[in-house]
Amino acid sequence: MPARYDLHTHSLRSDGTTTPGEIAEEAASIGLAGFALTDHDTVEGWAEARTVAGRVGVDFLPGMEVTTKHDNRSTHLLAYGIDPGSRELNNALDRVRHSRERRARKMVALLAADFDIDWQSIDSDGEDRTVGRPHIADALVAAGYFPDRSTAFAEVLHPRSRYYLPTYAIETADAIRMVREAGGLPVLAHPAAGRMTRSVDMSALEVFVAAGLWGIELDHPENLERWIPPLAEFAARNGLHVTGASDYHGAGKDNRLGERTSSAETWNLIRSLVAVPR
Ligand code: AMP
Ligand code: FE
Ligand code: FE
Ligand code: ZN
Repeated sequence: MPARYDLHTHSLRSDGTTTPGEIAEEAASIGLAGFALTDHDTVEGWAEARTVAGRVGVDFLPGMEVTTKHDNRSTHLLAYGIDPGSRELNNALDRVRHSRERRARKMVALLAADFDIDWQSIDSDGEDRTVGRPHIADALVAAGYFPDRSTAFAEVLHPRSRYYLPTYAIETADAIRMVREAGGLPVLAHPAAGRMTRSVDMSALEVFVAAGLWGIELDHPENLERWIPPLAEFAARNGLHVTGASDYHGAGKDNRLGERTSSAETWNLIRSLVAVPR
C-alpha cells in the first residue's frame, strides 16, 4: 500500500481530546507514514508531537488551523510549516485567542441562566489550549444535558442559537498573506463542509488565490460530494494543490484519524516548500 499522510488533526491544545503524543502513537499504530498537527490558532502542541513522532517512527509536519472569515462566512485556513516567531501572524493569533476566551466566557454566562454550568466547568487547569464551543459542549455533556458534542452543537451551540456569540476572525486574504510571510503554505480547509448552507464560492476563491492560497482540502469527511466538482475544476484551472485529511478531533467528532489522507508526493512537496519542515 502506498504511504499515507493525514494533514489535519487536533489535540488537547485546542478542541481535540487526545494529546499530541497520542496522535503520533495512533498514527504509527494505524500505519500512517506521517501527520500534521493543526490545532486551532496555536503551535503549542508541536514540540510534543515532534518528539513522540520521532520516537514511534512517523513523520511530523507542524501546522495550524487559523480562524478566519470572508464575506460573513467563517472560513478555516490550514497553515503548514509557518515560522512560529513571525511577529505579524502572532499578533493576529493573540487577538483571535483572546477574543475566543472572552466569547466563551460570555456564552457560558448566557447558558448559565438555563443550565447548571459555570466557567470553572470548562476551565482547563492552566493547560495552554485554544478554547472554543467544543469545550462548552463538553461541560454541558459532563453535566448530563446532552449525550455528546454534536447534540450540544445542534441544540444550543449553533450560530442561530440564542446562546451563540461570534468571535473575532482574521480576514481570510490577510491570513493567507501572513502565512506566506511567515514562510508557510496556506490551504483552504473543508471548503464544502455540509454544516454550512453552501460551499465557498468562486469569487471568494479568486480573492484567496490572488492573496497566495496554495491548496484546497477537497478530500475531507465533511465535504459534500455534490459541492466538490466546481471546486475541483477551479483548483485545476488555478493551479491549486488538492489535499486530503481527516480533521481528527479524538472523541470530539466522528472523524477517524487517517480516514482521508494525502499522498507522499503532496507531503514531500509541502515539506520542500515550507520554512519549518519538521
Ligand atoms: P468555535 O471555533 O468555537 O466556533 O467552534 C467550532 C469548532 O467546533 C470546530 O472547529 C469544530 O471542530 C467543532 N464543531 C463544529 N460542529 C461540531 C459538531 N456538530 N460536533 C462536534 N464538534 C463540532
Ligand atoms: Fe475543531
Ligand atoms: Fe475546521
Ligand atoms: Zn479542523
